[in-house]
Amino acid sequence: MIHTAVLKKEVIKFLDPGQNENFVDCTVGEGGHAQELLLKNGPDGKILGIDLDPLQISSAEWLKAQFKDRIILINDSYANLQEIVDRKNFVPVGGILLDLGMSSAQLEGREKGFSFKMEQGLDMRYNDHMNYLTAEKIVNEWPEERIEKILSEYGEEKFSKKIAKNIVEQRKLGRIKTTFQLIEIIKDSTPSAYWRGKIHYATRTFQALRIAVNDELENIKRVLPQALSILSPGGRLVVISFHSLEDRIVKNFFNQSTKNDEAKLLTKKPITASNQEIRENPRARSAKLRALVKQ
Ligand code: SAH
Repeated sequence: MIHTAVLKKEVIKFLDPGQNENFVDCTVGEGGHAQELLLKNGPDGKILGIDLDPLQISSAEWLKAQFKDRIILINDSYANLQEIVDRKNFVPVGGILLDLGMSSAQLEGREKGFSFKMEQGLDMRYNDHMNYLTAEKIVNEWPEERIEKILSEYGEEKFSKKIAKNIVEQRKLGRIKTTFQLIEIIKDSTPSAYWRGKIHYATRTFQALRIAVNDELENIKRVLPQALSILSPGGRLVVISFHSLEDRIVKNFFNQSTKNDEAKLLTKKPITASNQEIRENPRARSAKLRALVKQ
């Protein structure tokens, strides 16, 4: 499936790229947002595009054919933003974009067990070299209470207790290795009404495991202050989040920065996608965009 960048128009409105301005796209993905920026910040404005998934970096390579050395691609975590920008001597920076979460290509095109639709090993890492924790390790090796905690905190899963208990019961009989084995356990731990819900009954458990494996919330907490510090005065920061836990971190950081007079909010309330965009791109359904300008 071709990935469509979410809230494209709004990203451009708030990042407001000017001629020759430089931008950092912390989650370059397949390059959808980066392309829009590159069309506007010519003739000499550059984009530093970062992505943790090496295959996503390959998917963004096409930008080089069109924009040559105006696009710089780096396979690393945005948690290391300051260090990457220093190493590349990438100054001044007029705007920074974070489009959190994952793309449909990753969900459906990787053999990493991200999707409950396919039988695969329970891996869920965006990057095998920078991360040793896998979903398989969590379900087979973590204590029951710790599994329950991530399911309830990161997945907001109301059956976290039962699911964690059954995972621990099941693993006594043999290692839990695949997505389908895990789904079976979730099914056995939840009432049948839950199986007919609006979202698949495994969604919350899978989300929780992915967040835990990739330490996603911690990485967001780490990148935000670095992003603000890297921006030139007048520089814009745009963050798109996809669930309430992410959005809460972004909202708190934005409020704190305005209280300290380090920034001004460009969005009082988060911007969401239009019905039409949601119809065309289901990933937009839960997207929330917040923007600020550095003072
Ligand atoms: N805006 C992109 C899509 C981004 S999807 C586009 O227009 O195509 C989110 C991306 O964030 C994914 O490619 C994922 O690999 C990446 N990602 C997740 N965690 C990351 C991290 N810690 N550092 C850098 N990239 C990360």
